[in-house]
Amino acid sequence: MIKLAVIGDPIAHSLSPQVHSAALDAIGIPYTYEKVQVKKGELSSFLDYAREQGIDGFNLTMPHKVDILPYLSFIDKEAERYGAVNTVAVRGEKLYGYNTDADGYMASLYMQGWRPEDKNVVILGAGGVVRTLARKMAYEGAKKVTLLNRTVEKAREICQEIAMQENAECQYDVLTPETLRRYMGDCDLLMNGTPLGMEGIAQDFPDFSFLDEMKTSAMVSDLIYRPAKTNLLQRAEKSGLCIQNGLGMLICQGLLADQIYTGMSFDMQKVFTIVEEKLCLSGENVR
Ligand code: NAP
Repeated sequence: MIKLAVIGDPIAHSLSPQVHSAALDAIGIPYTYEKVQVKKGELSSFLDYAREQGIDGFNLTMPHKVDILPYLSFIDKEAERYGAVNTVAVRGEKLYGYNTDADGYMASLYMQGWRPEDKNVVILGAGGVVRTLARKMAYEGAKKVTLLNRTVEKAREICQEIAMQENAECQYDVLTPETLRRYMGDCDLLMNGTPLGMEGIAQDFPDFSFLDEMKTSAMVSDLIYRPAKTNLLQRAEKSGLCIQNGLGMLICQGLLADQIYTGMSFDMQKVFTIVEEKLCLSGENVR
């Protein structure tokens, strides 16, 4: 029996238990998986609890991805590159930190037949997830990464990191309807890393005419998975563009974490299909 958990604050709406339960059922590993609300500053008491309970591993979400770093005995290359951890394996007294977010996102794109090499990627937002995914795109061979963000300074910082660490051209600008239109012409992948269009958020893109500027071969990827099709994705689909929601990333980063916890390398595509199907059947509005 493997004992797992996800920690964060807020945590109530996390789909992690459903993703991991479906995956571990599919690969036939007995498990427990609990959701634990851990507020900022309370990591240390959670770690005591994890030790007492014999927890074998845990996923981390806001606000712990960076705060966990000082507690780790080992940090893998991906987590070190992004300075953030979303998966911890407990081995004896030691904590091993990993980051499966970026590889999970890339795996979800590969499953749709999309590869980053020599592509122009436009990313909206400059928060925690974008910092990781923008670096990953550049690392994996994208030709140019363009960051558009409401607070332009944050986009500039990420661009500077890319310029120093990776071998890709990077540019940034403020996010407005005008800049969106301006950067769409040579865009191969548009990724929305803002909460615009998310369930429970009042704001959305003021208009979607920028999609008319895109090449028909381009893909639109929204990191949001609730609703399953944001207005951005609905409108992109109507324009004949290939679309993807955030469910792919959510499942794939979870499957990579399960490979770490169990030490098993299973067929990602096969388990992905089972997990996706199970989430849809369980009434999660994700597809
Ligand atoms: P974050 O650190 O809070 O960053 C949010 C970004 O969105 C910031 O750049 C912010 O701009 C921008 N933003 C927020 N409200 C905006 C508005 N009204 N208009 C324009 N820009 C706005 O969040 P995060 O953790 O990076 O997450 C970003 C998105 O990814 C969220 O939608 C989240 O649900 C999704 N996500 C998906 C997965 C998955 O597995 N599918 C995993 C993690 C996150 P400022 O810099 O100007 O504040």
